[in-house]
Amino acid sequence: MRTSRAIVQEGPRRLVPHDLPLPDIDDQSALLKVEACGICGSDAEQYAGLLPVPFPLIPGHEPLGTIERIGDGAAKRWGVDVGDRVAVEAPIPCGRCRVCLAGRYPMCRARGSFFAHGYVPLSRAPGLWGGYAEYLYLEPCALVHRVRPDIPPEVAVMFNPLGAGFRWAVDIPDTGPGDTVLVLGPGQRGIACVIAARAAGADTIIVTGLTRDAPKLALARRFGADHVIDVEQEDVRRRVKELTDGRGADVVIEVSANAPEPVAEALHYVAPGGRIVLAGVKGFRSVPDFVSDLIVMKEAKILGAFGVTSPAYASAIRLIESGRVPLAELHTHDFPLADTERAIQILAGEVEGETSIHSCIFPQR
Ligand SMILES: [Zn+2]
Ligand SMILES: [Zn+2]
Repeated sequence: MRTSRAIVQEGPRRLVPHDLPLPDIDDQSALLKVEACGICGSDAEQYAGLLPVPFPLIPGHEPLGTIERIGDGAAKRWGVDVGDRVAVEAPIPCGRCRVCLAGRYPMCRARGSFFAHGYVPLSRAPGLWGGYAEYLYLEPCALVHRVRPDIPPEVAVMFNPLGAGFRWAVDIPDTGPGDTVLVLGPGQRGIACVIAARAAGADTIIVTGLTRDAPKLALARRFGADHVIDVEQEDVRRRVKELTDGRGADVVIEVSANAPEPVAEALHYVAPGGRIVLAGVKGFRSVPDFVSDLIVMKEAKILGAFGVTSPAYASAIRLIESGRVPLAELHTHDFPLADTERAIQILAGEVEGETSIHSCIFPQR
């Protein structure tokens, strides 16, 4: 029997290589040969044990690969065949429940808990549910998008962070021409929000970060930010006012890591009638100094954003294939499968002297 090498997370900060048997593929399923798998902040949280996930499992929720085997029914339904390159969406939604029908399928709980690639336990057959493996099982409810084969893999695999940029910075707040967009946090997701807002025709784009984020803020400028603000050196409320003719930002997107304070600050930055998108999780901590009167008096809208859905994935893939944006400059690190743990530690900022913007794993190396 053929097997797949896989990195299994057995518990917090414990990643162990395993060999797992390749599953049989029926009429409605497929097997993906994983070419690359992106890494993001959720991977670092999962590694640290901060997410309620059932161990042991294979992490990795941003897989890109080629169809190795596929059933006739699945081939017809997805419009792909053996040898086609596809981006795989993280969620595996039931497609039938209320949230699925409303298009919010990252919240589908029809199978009990968050059911997505990288989050399903090994105990659920066939076990190959994560992207940190040579092969990934695609079950009937998986969602795939065809990606042109000539795009370099480290760029093609950016469909996930860019998809988040399109959903969080454009689709959810309905951003368009004339909008001033303020992005709080210059990480991978923040820069993706800049790229997406720029593609959507936003007017002025402003990004905030810490002093040590200077290289990331420079990248944000390179990808379309008109202004950047160092929150440790500048009075952000005043700067935002200055840069927006005293109005504030029409759209504020909160994608900073961990700290709850920017959520309260966002209320000061938003324009009357503006939209605030909260997409960075804060470990279920409450937000100090949250002045709700500002929401009332500005008639601001506060919108949550969790995960990515098909229209945003499709926008991201179109942008990648267009070649219009120098996305390769965002790619900082790639790793063979055996170095997955180090990859996550670098992303989490645990390795002195290494700063990751976009990293990925190449499971065939
Ligand atoms: Zn991710
Ligand atoms: Zn559902």
